[in-house]
Amino acid sequence: MASIEFVQVTQSFDKNIIIEGLDLKIEDGKFTVLVGPSGCGKTTLLRMIAGLDPHTSGSVLINGKDVTRIAPGQRGVAMVFQNYAIYPTMSVRENIEFGLKNNKVAKEERTRLVEGISSTVGLSDYLDRKPSTLSGGQRQRVALARAMVKKPSVFLMDEPLSNLDAKLRVQMRIELIEMHKKLGTTFVYVTHDQVEAMSMADTIVLMNRGRIQQEAPPEVIYRRPSNLFAAQFIGVPPMNVGELGVDGVKFGFRPESAVLTTEPGDSHFSMRGVVATREMLGSETIYQVKSGENAFMIKCIEDLFSFDQEVYVGVDAAKLFFFGADENRIDED
Ligand code: ATP
Repeated sequence: MASIEFVQVTQSFDKNIIIEGLDLKIEDGKFTVLVGPSGCGKTTLLRMIAGLDPHTSGSVLINGKDVTRIAPGQRGVAMVFQNYAIYPTMSVRENIEFGLKNNKVAKEERTRLVEGISSTVGLSDYLDRKPSTLSGGQRQRVALARAMVKKPSVFLMDEPLSNLDAKLRVQMRIELIEMHKKLGTTFVYVTHDQVEAMSMADTIVLMNRGRIQQEAPPEVIYRRPSNLFAAQFIGVPPMNVGELGVDGVKFGFRPESAVLTTEPGDSHFSMRGVVATREMLGSETIYQVKSGENAFMIKCIEDLFSFDQEVYVGVDAAKLFFFGADENRIDED
């Protein structure tokens, strides 16, 4: 196991500064997810941990040791990419064994390790099959097993589920959580998908434009977002935000925090509006309610309202967030 630390790290490519003076500590044995929109620098951070790109200045530490000048193969990290490359002509066993053979691990030990990891990822029955005979999810497991079998102290993953269909992604998320529990290794996982981040992370590191916006457990980011970006990135549909008309202060509330009624309710905050769209999703319905200049998304368990109906949007004071002109949250924790 290993902790990771970035100390005043700057990375630039072709004179473009991508990351500047970044400090971050990733805890030993935790499942940390780096999340943020495309181009925010997530992969850049992961590649610096792996040692794949020399960074411009600052230090990267693994287990307290400066690895800035240590080659990728000597860092004790393994990385699984989005386009996991498994060898099509090799069997599952040979694919998983490949790195061990390269490291001259003895045959008996190789067999023991391959069989152990295959059972962890649910591939025991497929060891003699060729990758072409496996499903997408099983192939992804081969890539994971191949990285895990080397017993890295840090396991890096860059969008490893993005090529899988929606159902398989959900299944693999659960499997990754279980694998992490079993292995107890430090996992650093990159995604742009906030649902993946929310469902798997012990700690989310939320990034935008090369900067860390918030670093906290998922429920803390959801309940106490530090700024407008964090408030709107985490949660589906995103937090509703409106202008208060005073000094650039904005208010916000989550779609699931509001109640819709046909008469004014007794909520602290109540606005009259009209149902503009209605999306029935089975277990819930999402309405868009237009109220003056604002359009709010409201999530309801029951499907009680129709298009063009006049409604009242009610939100309790405790469910409201306020953001200052600098977009940082200004209400009390
Ligand atoms: P995505 O979710 O799209 O993969 P990301 O958050 O992982 O995005 P990075 O891949 O880290 O983003 O890229 C951050 C920025 O750095 C982008 O503007 C990208 O174009 C730039 N960049 C990354 N690697 C290089 C490189 N080798 N040379 C030049 N620019 C690069």
